[in-house]
Amino acid sequence: MPGVNTAPNRPRPCLSPSLNADLHCHSTVSDGTLEPEALAARAAANGVQLWALTDHDEIGGQQRARAAAQAHGMHYLTGVEISVTFADTTVHIVGLGFDETNPRLVQGLNDTRDGRGPRAREMAAALAQAGIEGAYEGALRHAGNPALISRTHFARFLVETGVCRDTPEVFRKYLTEGKPGYVPHRWARLGDAVHWITQAGGVAVIAHPARYKFNATEEYALFTEFKAHGGQAVEVVTGSHTPAEALRYAGMAHEFGLAASRGSDFHSPAESHIDLGRLAPLPPGLTPVWTLLSG
Ligand code: AMP
Ligand code: MN
Ligand code: MN
Ligand code: MN
Repeated sequence: MPGVNTAPNRPRPCLSPSLNADLHCHSTVSDGTLEPEALAARAAANGVQLWALTDHDEIGGQQRARAAAQAHGMHYLTGVEISVTFADTTVHIVGLGFDETNPRLVQGLNDTRDGRGPRAREMAAALAQAGIEGAYEGALRHAGNPALISRTHFARFLVETGVCRDTPEVFRKYLTEGKPGYVPHRWARLGDAVHWITQAGGVAVIAHPARYKFNATEEYALFTEFKAHGGQAVEVVTGSHTPAEALRYAGMAHEFGLAASRGSDFHSPAESHIDLGRLAPLPPGLTPVWTLLSG
């Protein structure tokens, strides 16, 4: 056909910077309450043009998410949010645009998930000590994917049974450091998670950096080591950041030469304050992470 490049292996063009991108959310495959297809429909209805499903430590929803995105005319990037321990703190690293069949990535995520079952049983034992019985079975009932049992599922159980009014209250009273149901856990190392993503052809992104309560020295170390391992981007606009925090991390993106990502971190219509696609645009002058990728 004249004017059209029909060569089978032509490189696909990188994604346009002006797309309404939402590159962070969760389905029933991890700790969200909507199926991948329902999330895709919601994203499309909210005007999302480029979407990624980023379940915690799990890529089992990717094929369903991609098919649903394509059915709604959205561009799609493969996604995941990997749990990492850095400086004795849990940090989340989002991976985008990787090959989901890559064996090292698949194995790394399997290993990361393996810790969740024993941790959940310890959490239930700790909650039983605090007078709350049956939490393991209760949390499991809320988990669409038992391999991904998480604190969110315990939180939903404690709300269901009337122990707390909402999930933030559960985290405040029971599931954060120093509280009765909190169990320390060692996740993947930062460098391992970044390498799993990059050697699978993807881009690694520091998720919601304002959430970590690091001091300036620790935060500088996180960004420096992330970059040294081959990390390429940071979430600037997310459901977890205030406008002031977005500006602060726009500055960090400039300082460290990182691209910028945008994602709601949507989990549930009942729990999430920021809906899919309903985010501020990235501050000007940044490189949108999706311009490094093709969709
Ligand atoms: P886990 O991976 O099992 O440690 O669970 C972490 C998940 O808990 C996060 O991805 C959030 O979905 C949720 N979470 C963490 N902190 C809070 C909080 N303060 N309020 C509500 N949900 C939270
Ligand atoms: Mn979550
Ligand atoms: Mn997170
Ligand atoms: Mn998330």
